[in-house]
Amino acid sequence: MQIQYAERIRTLPPYLFAAIDQMKREALAKGADLIDLSIGDPDIPTPKHIVEAMKKAVENPEHHRYPSYEGMLSYRQAVARWYKRRFNVELDPEKEVLSLIGSKEGIGHIPLAFIDPGDIVLVPSPGYPVYPVGTKFAGGIPYFMPLKEENYFLPDLKSIPKDICKKAKLMFINYPNNPTSADATSDFYREVIDFANKYNIIVCHDAAYSEVYYEERPLSFMEIEGAKDVGIEFHSLSKTYNMTGWRIGYAVGNREILAGLGKVKTNLDSGVFQAIQEASIVALDTDDSILKDIRDTFKDRRDILYDGLRSRGFEVRKPNATFYLWVKVPRGTNSIDFVGKLLKEAEVLCTPGVGFGEHGEGYIRFALTQSKERIKEAVERIGRLSL
Ligand SMILES: *Cc1c(COP(=O)(O)O)cnc(C)c1O
Repeated sequence: MQIQYAERIRTLPPYLFAAIDQMKREALAKGADLIDLSIGDPDIPTPKHIVEAMKKAVENPEHHRYPSYEGMLSYRQAVARWYKRRFNVELDPEKEVLSLIGSKEGIGHIPLAFIDPGDIVLVPSPGYPVYPVGTKFAGGIPYFMPLKEENYFLPDLKSIPKDICKKAKLMFINYPNNPTSADATSDFYREVIDFANKYNIIVCHDAAYSEVYYEERPLSFMEIEGAKDVGIEFHSLSKTYNMTGWRIGYAVGNREILAGLGKVKTNLDSGVFQAIQEASIVALDTDDSILKDIRDTFKDRRDILYDGLRSRGFEVRKPNATFYLWVKVPRGTNSIDFVGKLLKEAEVLCTPGVGFGEHGEGYIRFALTQSKERIKEAVERIGRLSL
């Protein structure tokens, strides 16, 4: 039998990290002491009290059955409590909160609810690859909004051609931003709301990094007047509580938009394991001092890497949020070649910007997901290179 993949699989963009993975395997096979700063996955374990809550919940046979599609009401109430406490945003837990199997799941599925073949989705570049891929799986066409340093890595909505605006049904934005680590302002969010109203575009804001911040607390899109009329916000416990492996998140905001996503989901999945939801209620009610410890750990690492790269002549802004540094590659090279050079000559691995889209070229991304001793060592090794 001849196995033939569907068009949507065959036309996925080439896996840009394949060459890097190959180099990484070769380096490791040769016994290299590799410092891997390419991974967007915290190395810090989930706080103990959350793990304990999970242990208890898993023993309860009530949780061994199918969960409800939209999430336990107690979980959705915990999300609403958290939004009230953190952002002073009121949410109706019954209609304005939807549980997700990680926010990636919701982001990947939402185009299926609103995009017909040929519809346009506005997508940031560089950006999280799930936005364009989810769009294409639904038959939609991504229109890439460049995030440029001179615009503080915010998309320039005025530069999007009118005919594209008219055909667009949905847009993804993401602040604090992966990979650029940029923040958004309330002025920007207001501009997004006006734009969405003018062209009837659903706004999907990805706020996965709202709690990984250092100096200023990032805003929620939902704090801005009118946001709930035009959009939803995706959120995740993954980065906030170091729970990437647990697979739980949620979307909040406009009830009709959430109902559309919910309709897709009831036909594809059967909700989140209730024991995980129980542990997540405990997580959402976590005392802020625990989050502060996590932030302080990343902040130390940020300062070491930022100061180290700056003193060695690299162009990089100090991020207020996310655990990433978005660094310009030296003149005369490109992101893939430069990542290769760092890997071969310094045994330090980071991610080429072009892996996040065409407009990520010229940059590399470092993730602060190793101990500060290892990050110090990485800086020293990079310092010894001739660039
Ligand atoms: C990590 C990440 C997510 C989501 O993660 P989940 O674990 O699926 O909740 C979403 N968006 C961005 C930009 C991320 O970096």
